[in-house]
Amino acid sequence: MPTAAILPTHTPGLFNQAVLKTARLLRSGGVAAVPSETVYGLAANAFSPVAIRGIYRAKGRPSSNPLIVHVATAAMARTCAADWPELAEVLARHFWPGPLTLVVPKSSKIPDIVSAGGPTVGLRWPSHPFFQSLIRECDFPLAAPSANPSDHLSPTTAEHVMASLGQRIPLIVDAGACAVGIESTVVDVTGQRPRILRPGIISADQIAQAAGMDADVALPAPEGPLRSPGQLSRHYSPKARLAVWSWGSDAELLDRVTRESMPPERLFVLTHSRVPRDPIPAQVSFMPDDPEAFARAFYGYLHECDDRGAALVVVEELPAGSAWDGVRDRLLRASAPAARAV
Ligand code: AMP
Ligand code: MG
Repeated sequence: MPTAAILPTHTPGLFNQAVLKTARLLRSGGVAAVPSETVYGLAANAFSPVAIRGIYRAKGRPSSNPLIVHVATAAMARTCAADWPELAEVLARHFWPGPLTLVVPKSSKIPDIVSAGGPTVGLRWPSHPFFQSLIRECDFPLAAPSANPSDHLSPTTAEHVMASLGQRIPLIVDAGACAVGIESTVVDVTGQRPRILRPGIISADQIAQAAGMDADVALPAPEGPLRSPGQLSRHYSPKARLAVWSWGSDAELLDRVTRESMPPERLFVLTHSRVPRDPIPAQVSFMPDDPEAFARAFYGYLHECDDRGAALVVVEELPAGSAWDGVRDRLLRASAPAARAV
């Protein structure tokens, strides 16, 4: 396949043209990479098994990993669901449009290939203006996992998509860098209480508060048994090895870096609070000490480390607190030793 075309969206005219061209491609059963507020997605008609196969093929994604279905109205969400629990209604009212995916019983309109054979479907109403306009123009929901080969780092710019899928897909819509920067929070609302399947920038505390529940909403243990398809222990990974360290002093950091015996241009250190006063034999970068800003910058930074040939990326241990759970989850998965399941 020739290299993907890139459609810009930075004027109203270009935006509208990109919506129409992408919708035409998706109506004919094709796939296209599109911007969302979380990460770039690889979209196809969620009602068409043939179109969905194109997503799995381009990504090399295992068919046991379900896709999130994106909608742009409450009515569209309900056509995808066999049942719309009260909890879904409450959380949708609170957080949609936005980076929250609700797992509900799937309707017969959703093909089994979307849900990886399971009885539920993950639904999300994205806030990104391009994604919303595209879904409205198509008038069908769009299944869209992240626009990267399976098990690679998610893309947060059109350039990231081009670098990894540019030869495998026909079209990439460019709307600049994603505002959230990590994948949506996934919440199972089929039970009495919300259950977080994948942490994200909308935290467990926010979910509990919106649901009117005092107690904590349970988080999955990253190393626990698989609760649903798609919860691999190693995921969201850069090519470089990734490690989480905490250090008490500059001397301790210097000592640990030195013991890695690595060329300084291949060892990257990502700090958010402890800035070494003297140079150390590594590439040191400073990240924001704020979970939302950190999430926005994180994948971009990891892509850059990979591009610069990093062998080891050290990330300073993150602060405690549920606001950091989304970033912490990606960090734990990316630094897990090896894939446990496919
Ligand atoms: P991605 O599309 O790469 O962001 O991954 C989507 C993730 O959402 C999957 O890996 C699952 O963890 C989760 N997910 C999607 N649909 C479901 C579902 N029906 N049940 C449970 N988890 C889901
Ligand atoms: Mg993904």
